[in-house]
Amino acid sequence: MAEVVIVGGGLAGCDCAWQLANAGVSVTLFEMKPEKRSEAHAEDGLAELVCSNSFRATGPAAAIGLLKEEMERLGSLVMESAFATRVPAGGALAVDRTLFSEYITNKLEDHELITVVRREIASLDDEALKGCDAVVIAAGPLASPELTESLMAAVGDERLYFYDAIAPIVSRDSVNFDKAFWGSRWKPEDDDYLNCPMDEAEYKAFVAALLAGEKVKPREFEKEVHFEACLPVEAMAERGEMTLAFGPLKPVGFTDPRTGERPFAIVQLRTENVDKTAFNLVGFQTKLKYPEQKRIFRMIPGLENAEFLRLGSIHRNTYVNAPEVLDNTLQLKNRPGVYLAGQITGVEGYLESAACGLWLGLSMGRRLRGESLPEPPVETALGALMNHLRTKPDKRFQPSNVNFGLMPGLEGRIKKKFRKEAYGKRAQEAFAAWLEESGLKD
Ligand code: FAD
Repeated sequence: MAEVVIVGGGLAGCDCAWQLANAGVSVTLFEMKPEKRSEAHAEDGLAELVCSNSFRATGPAAAIGLLKEEMERLGSLVMESAFATRVPAGGALAVDRTLFSEYITNKLEDHELITVVRREIASLDDEALKGCDAVVIAAGPLASPELTESLMAAVGDERLYFYDAIAPIVSRDSVNFDKAFWGSRWKPEDDDYLNCPMDEAEYKAFVAALLAGEKVKPREFEKEVHFEACLPVEAMAERGEMTLAFGPLKPVGFTDPRTGERPFAIVQLRTENVDKTAFNLVGFQTKLKYPEQKRIFRMIPGLENAEFLRLGSIHRNTYVNAPEVLDNTLQLKNRPGVYLAGQITGVEGYLESAACGLWLGLSMGRRLRGESLPEPPVETALGALMNHLRTKPDKRFQPSNVNFGLMPGLEGRIKKKFRKEAYGKRAQEAFAAWLEESGLKD
């Protein structure tokens, strides 16, 4: 019988173990709790939700809703547990976190092919990882420091990151093109960048709002000095009213086509995907609370009605440069036999992490039986998320939650109000066809 060792009994490790065991693979799951805990983990159970108890929106008009549907159809234990322990939360799926974790812990401990071992794996060279068919590292964004060091030695220290500095992403069709214009500095013909010009009054009001906006309080373990290269936008604003205008909002090299003059300041939006349906706000990594980001960033001329596909954040997060480090099967390119799953790969979020573990377990289970499984198409939520891990960015690779900006743009002209439904319908059709093709149809 094939044997796989999984390190980390979080959301990814648990869904991975479940898929493998259900495919007839013997799984040993190492979880370091309660012997040792990360700074955010407090309970003893597996699949602990370290912060919110919400799995966000449901329904196919949201990418995360689609991901839920897809995971459910693929037999996700995380989804099964979420529905079994659901609490009322309007249109969102939220759970009783204690019952959720208990449900998963019991299911895994009761499975005849799964052995849960409570101990830390501190090195990729640990004896317990030898002799099996594959090793899955699913140790999460707060992987133990010793294991992180060992992983860093395997992938190269410039390919493993400890912080996320995420700038918000807006959908192109929510940008007001009466104000925003194309072009990069000195290159008005460049359609990789969109620019939102500000006059002096708009700029000063914006800076004042950034300073007054409510911020997320850093956790004790996050109180470290920010790298100069990824300072929060509001921290830069604190250095002086004109700091942003001389920094990321510098207007030099731009002429506003509406006025024929150089604006007082410019917010640049950089293309986020090949189809140019999504744009990130350059230099806008932030610790502002989510509702504050929406309120304050909509003060930017051209973004009054912005739809945010992703909001900004800066937090402690261990993850690799996946397009450089992993092959298409999530295996470390320079350490054959060792695979990564979950947030450590560069997906972001509870369900995204679980989905990554699920996909690895499902595909590995097939491979260990000598069979293959085609990749889910990029039009689906799971396919788009996995494709993110293979897509080399122009700049530094950044983690992503699932969003429509990761999917190919829609063909033809579709009215803005019908776009989400169109993405949803296309994804559902692509997923159904893929299930059929893969022999996974439920
Ligand atoms: P985890 O769920 O963290 O699981 C990793 C497991 O590995 C843990 O149980 C850990 O104890 C174990 N482990 C680590 N090192 C070792 C080792 N060496 N040996 C054995 N076991 C080990 N996402 C959201 O969607 N919503 C949120 O509200 C949210 N809040 C977050 C708050 C914080 C503070 C952090 C850090 C992240 C948050 N995330 C949130 C992001 C992310 O989705 C979650 O962290 C998610 O739990 C990641 O799943 P995972 O399986 O990759 O890692």
